[in-house]
Amino acid sequence: MSASREKIMRGVGVSPGIAIGRALVVARNPVQVPYRPLSNVSQAEQEAKRFQAALAATKQELTAARDQMGGALADYSYIIEAHLAILQDRMISQRTLDLIKTQKINAEWALGLAENEAKQVFENVQDEYIRSRFSDVAYVTELLLRHLSGQNHNQLSEIREKVVVVAHDLSPADTTLMDLDWIMGFVTDMGGPTSHTAIMAQAKAIPAVVGLERVSQEVAGGDFVIVDGSGGVLVINPEEETLHQYRDKQEAYELYAQEILAQAHLSAETIDGRRLDVGANIELAEEVGSVLTYGAESIGLYRTEFLYVSQKTLPTEEELLANFRTVAERMERRPVCIRTLDIGGDKFASTLELAPEINPALGLRAIRYCLRERGLFKTQLRAILRASAYGQVRVMFPLISGVGELLQAKEVLEEVKQELRARGHPFDAKMKVGIMIEVPSAVAIADLLAEHVDFFSIGTNDLIQYSLAIDRVNEAVAHLYQPMHPAVLRMVRQVVTAGHAAGISVAMCGEMAGDVRAVPLLVGLGLDGLSMNALAIPRVKQVLRLCAAQSWRDLARHAMSYATAAEVKRFVDQELVRHFGAMFAPAPGGAAAG
Ligand code: PEP
Ligand code: MG
Repeated sequence: MSASREKIMRGVGVSPGIAIGRALVVARNPVQVPYRPLSNVSQAEQEAKRFQAALAATKQELTAARDQMGGALADYSYIIEAHLAILQDRMISQRTLDLIKTQKINAEWALGLAENEAKQVFENVQDEYIRSRFSDVAYVTELLLRHLSGQNHNQLSEIREKVVVVAHDLSPADTTLMDLDWIMGFVTDMGGPTSHTAIMAQAKAIPAVVGLERVSQEVAGGDFVIVDGSGGVLVINPEEETLHQYRDKQEAYELYAQEILAQAHLSAETIDGRRLDVGANIELAEEVGSVLTYGAESIGLYRTEFLYVSQKTLPTEEELLANFRTVAERMERRPVCIRTLDIGGDKFASTLELAPEINPALGLRAIRYCLRERGLFKTQLRAILRASAYGQVRVMFPLISGVGELLQAKEVLEEVKQELRARGHPFDAKMKVGIMIEVPSAVAIADLLAEHVDFFSIGTNDLIQYSLAIDRVNEAVAHLYQPMHPAVLRMVRQVVTAGHAAGISVAMCGEMAGDVRAVPLLVGLGLDGLSMNALAIPRVKQVLRLCAAQSWRDLARHAMSYATAAEVKRFVDQELVRHFGAMFAPAPGGAAAG
């Protein structure tokens, strides 16, 4: 009997489902970067011309890729726009030209130096998301290098059989080169949940596992592989028995996916008639298309920070308006809750100078920053108000810690309304105003705050951080970050009680709201709405439709009698299995189903 060649690798599952088939390993031989010192001005001019020709060719390639993006990928053309912007950014194009001239070196070497300088700038950025976007700069540099060296041939455009694509990394431009109908799955060395491969794979419902580190070296072209995008697993050359297990899992997943997506548009109503608003959290206007596909009934949280990080100057009122208006119109009168700028803390903006702080999470962030920078705040409020003429727009203030602060924010909003009236701009005079409840003091005085707003939305990401004193970005204390901590549950209940007593709605938009295992508990605690990552919506809606609000009220009451998060979790998990059976039973390999 021959020895088993089966090998299992674990990464990050970013697009669910199972793919089984032959691997196509995308050969990306690193482009050689030659070093050639130049001896005179005319050689430098030649090099500059050569670099400019590569810039033009790269621009043409990216533009063509962007123009080809249709169908499910159309919403993602902004990624290629970002690559085009990097291509034209001084940091790369002008800097390389300067280095050719001043250092008297060839274009490839100068480009490498410019890329290194950019890398250092990105490495000093605190925000993990922005830091990770250096991968876009590296990608654009690689394209340029390929054009400089004449190695711009891409085997992806030649795929004509069903394959699992295995690559070091994939860009949106790569994705547009392939005919996606032939692609069964993606696996890459690089990437995380926000990588382009992840976004693209989700848009096309192609199973994908990223962050496998060495997969492009471990898999040989033609190897038989299993991609488990739900569990984040790749099996290379599986044994017969493993293959059987995964074929069963594949069949079950496909049935489940069809069923769940077909039902995503049904309302989220419990079997005893309680209706919840299930919304999506977004960061980009371009996400609206996919959010609707997944059955969102509203945008419960539009995080607007990205508008301040994606360009070098502050966005103007007109730019903000165009963006908010697009979201409002595309949501077709469904509620859109725009959160005012929440910058500072762990969030960073390239356009704003933030003073270094010893405790940034407790510093000048969110509403505190906006109340200090009135001009910036008013510009954003004007744009939000003006967008309210085009849809059901609401405004939400983050990090409110007291009534005084809220009244100041509302005063600014009133000033802005006067200004718009004077300028003759239409807006919804009754636009709803809400706050995020994410500071423990806001929980304690929720009754007092409720008198001044139309809605609350509980931001558990920060509320847990501030109440349990757990830095949300510090991995060393991540195990103490417990959404089911009795203190968190009590705070949620207190906020719901205060909100309802004042006749206002109370939603949740922290990550906890999208955790399907927490949903029955949240319904039981009386929340009126849940807003989450759009991908979680179909499953959460399905669970809500199978719930009886009354039984979850009992579950919540019982859960609140436990003293520790572990006990609450164990109890809730047991109840889920008792009510839903297999849907919540542990799956083979330990991970929960779905
Ligand atoms: C939260 O704090 O729960 C929240 C939704 O806001 P953010 O994660 O953007 O701070
Ligand atoms: Mg927050």
